[in-house]
Amino acid sequence: MGVEKKILVIPGDGIGQEVTAWGQKVLATIANNYHHTFHFEEGMMGHVAIEATGEPLPDSTLDKARNSDAILFGAIGHAKYDNDPTLKVRPEQGLLKIRKELGLYANLRPIKLFDELLEASSIKPEILRGADILFFRELTGDVYFGEKKRSEDRSSASDLMIYHRYEVERIARKAYEAARTRRSKLCSVDKANVLEASRLWREVVQEIAKEYPDVETEHMFIDNAAMQLIKDPKRFDVVLTGNLFGDILTDEASQIAGSMGMLASASVGDKVGFYEPIHGSAHDIAGKGIANPLASILSVALMLDISFGLKTESQRVIKAVEATLRQGYRTMDIANKHTVNEFIMGTDAMGAKVLENLN
Ligand code: NAD
Repeated sequence: MGVEKKILVIPGDGIGQEVTAWGQKVLATIANNYHHTFHFEEGMMGHVAIEATGEPLPDSTLDKARNSDAILFGAIGHAKYDNDPTLKVRPEQGLLKIRKELGLYANLRPIKLFDELLEASSIKPEILRGADILFFRELTGDVYFGEKKRSEDRSSASDLMIYHRYEVERIARKAYEAARTRRSKLCSVDKANVLEASRLWREVVQEIAKEYPDVETEHMFIDNAAMQLIKDPKRFDVVLTGNLFGDILTDEASQIAGSMGMLASASVGDKVGFYEPIHGSAHDIAGKGIANPLASILSVALMLDISFGLKTESQRVIKAVEATLRQGYRTMDIANKHTVNEFIMGTDAMGAKVLENLN
C-alpha cells in the first residue's frame, strides 16, 4: 500500500535552486512508480528570504516545516554576506534557527564511493574501493554552544566544551540502531585521554553499548581517527562523534567520495527529518547550469529510507544514480580528464538521465 507524506521543499540560494528541482522530480517519479502520494509545499530561506521578507527564516517557512513529514533543502548563501561579515541579518542564521527549532541533534553523513568514480578522488583506488561509512555527528552541543569568553585586555579567549549525558545518550542510541542495519560495527571518536567532556562521552557510550551486545564497539582518539580514515577507510562502518570532531572528520571524509557534488546528509531529531546536500550555494557556478544534482538526489534517497522507511524506493534511487554514472554521464566536478568514455553534461541533462534510469 502506498504512503501519504507532506514534504517541504526549501531550495534556498544559488545552485540550491538548480539542484533541488531535480531532487523534487525524483521524489515525484518515485511517488508515481510506487503509488505513493507526496504533497509538496515550498518555503523560503536564506538570501532570497531576506530580500523578500527581511528575515532569513520567515515564520511561514518554520510553520510549514513543523507541519511536514520531511524537508528537502538546497543551500543558502550569497557573495554579498561572505564579503561583508558585519552584516547583521545573514542567510546562515536561517539554517541554524531551523535546526534548533526542529530539535535536529544528529547529523548523518553517509560516505560511499561509487566504483565508477574511483579515479575522481585524490586517494588511491585500492585504498578506497569498498569504503562505506556512516557518520553520526552530534549537532547541538560541544564548543559551538558552550560559554565563550574573552579576557578584559582581550589577550586570551576560551570556548567551553560541554556535553550533557542526555545529549550523548540520544545520539549514541541512533548510531547503534543504524549499525544494526549495516555491518554491526561502531567506532566512537573522542579525546578521552585529555578532555573531561570526552571522558563523559566515552563513559556514556560504554553504557549504551551494553544495550547492543550484537554491535562491536571501538573507541578511538580523534587524532588516530583522522589518520586511519585516509589510511584505511574500509575499517569503519558507523562512526559516532561530537560536534567539533565530527565537523572536521566529515569534511576530511568527503574526499573519499570524490566531490562535494556527490554527498548528501540528513539531520534528524525527534520528529521531522531535514535532508540536504553537504555543499553550499556555490556562487562561482550558480546560474551556469553546470552544478551536479546528484547530492540532492542522494539526499532524497536518505529521506525515503530514514523518514519514510521506504528502503526499496531508496535503493532504487541509489541504483539509478549508479546506472547513470556507469553509462558514463558526468557533470564537470566529477569528470576525469583521463577517461574517454565520458559524456560531460549540465545539471538538467544529468537530472534527466537519472529520471530515465528510474523508469
Ligand atoms: P560551496 O560548497 O558552495 O562550494 C565549494 C566548491 O565546490 C565550489 O568551487 C563549487 O563550485 C563546488 N561545488 C559545490 N557544490 C557543487 C555541485 N553540486 N556541483 C559542482 N560543483 C560544486 O562552498 P563555498 O564556496 O565555501 O560557499 C559558497 C556559499 O555557500 C557561501 O555563502 C557559504 O556561506 C554557503 N554555504 C552554505 C552551506 C549550506 O547551505 N548548508 C554550506 C556551505 C557553504
